[in-house]
Amino acid sequence: MTSAKPLVLYSTLSRKKEVFKPRVEGKVGMYVCGVTVYDYCHIGHGRTFIAFDVIRRWLEARGNEVTFVRNVTDVDDKIIRRAAERGISTKDLTDEFTRAMQEDMESLGCLAPTYEPHATDFIGDMQSVIGKLFEKGYAYVGKDGDVDYAVRKFQGYGKLSGKSLDDLEPGARIGVDSGKRDPLDFVLWKRAKPGEPHWPSPWGEGRPGWHIECSAMSCHYLGENFDIHGGGPDLIFPHHENEIAQSEAANGKPFANYWMHSGPLRVRAADGTEQKMSKSLHNFWTIRDALKETDEKFGEGNGSQVLRFFLMRTQYRSPISFNTGLIEDAHKGLTRLYDALAGVPGDGKPLDWAEPHAAAFADAMNDDFNTPVAIAQLFELANDVNRTKDPALARQLKALGAILNILQGDPAKFLKGAAGAAMPEEEIRKLIEERAAAKKARNFARADEIRDTLASKGITLLDTPQGTTWRSA
Ligand SMILES: [Zn+2]
Repeated sequence: MTSAKPLVLYSTLSRKKEVFKPRVEGKVGMYVCGVTVYDYCHIGHGRTFIAFDVIRRWLEARGNEVTFVRNVTDVDDKIIRRAAERGISTKDLTDEFTRAMQEDMESLGCLAPTYEPHATDFIGDMQSVIGKLFEKGYAYVGKDGDVDYAVRKFQGYGKLSGKSLDDLEPGARIGVDSGKRDPLDFVLWKRAKPGEPHWPSPWGEGRPGWHIECSAMSCHYLGENFDIHGGGPDLIFPHHENEIAQSEAANGKPFANYWMHSGPLRVRAADGTEQKMSKSLHNFWTIRDALKETDEKFGEGNGSQVLRFFLMRTQYRSPISFNTGLIEDAHKGLTRLYDALAGVPGDGKPLDWAEPHAAAFADAMNDDFNTPVAIAQLFELANDVNRTKDPALARQLKALGAILNILQGDPAKFLKGAAGAAMPEEEIRKLIEERAAAKKARNFARADEIRDTLASKGITLLDTPQGTTWRSA
């Protein structure tokens, strides 16, 4: 049903919206650059991976079988440095932070990738790409023993980022200890230094450069030419530009057909200015910090739902400002949606794509995954549910939420929020029973007193035909 209309998406490569046509009808191969696992993920990672999770879910909702590959970079300068600082092996460090990253992604409601290759398991594949680059004259051994890529040999260099070699030249400098022939060249294979992880290769003991891992692993799972390559905005240059240069030079065919990049995430300071998130500015949020704070504020298990909703309600290419006021606003929005579902349970029938809100939701998602417009349909549905009490509309609301993986929790639990922390739930239940008995005995003074006591703890009582429930004020 959803695939009746074409899906249009913006490709960074063509700089325009294009009708998406997978190489094989009904099958999509998608590679998204993952995390360098030396520390906890920050909310910028959360933004990127939720963006691609929503993209993948919509491709699947349209009936595609999606092969989603997201790599784990487990060999890199930062990893080597951090492991040395902590006095542990790089393997122990990367195992620890791979697990932490997987937990964070699960907390944010992201589907696990179909494949999650670790760079160190694909050293052989990387060496064979480098071997092809030697054969075709794009790779050379520099005078320091590193293997480098000769950027000027590749005709299309700069086509993704829109940078020309002349733009790049003035800023590029050759480091004193580098063996590059040209400052624009980048490393494919680094010769071994004492104490660093290394593997044997035809060019001596060493380790791979960063860019080569994605060329090798995307090809391994998806082929030399595949559908979608994505990542965060800071990867366009040089990482993705270099991936294209390596893969297209080695294989002699176009690499990914569509390039998708999520927008930036900035932190809004108290004075309203937007800042890049950085540890030195003390505005750095790991996903864990953000989950802890939002769980405390909105109730255990609710923080992750609020964060996911917050990070997806902006279109994936638009910038997101992060601050606590905006998170509270997202919580209010999600509360309105859950409120509608709390009042009217769905009728359990399947989603009807012909229903006008669902059709408008699909149109928005088919227009470059326009989540704010799609989510506006959810608010309209919630208003209609509140007005009509129609279980068929409540079902539509919950089923459209399922496509974005929101609104799937128990509405009562979400609405109780953090109020349960002010008073144990058991005690609240007892007071509700006592109030019912007081009302029955026409002791309205006591009934009101109980209501006021609970209100002072941020707990609002709701009298419904099914009995009294409560929620966070
Ligand atoms: Zn990559």
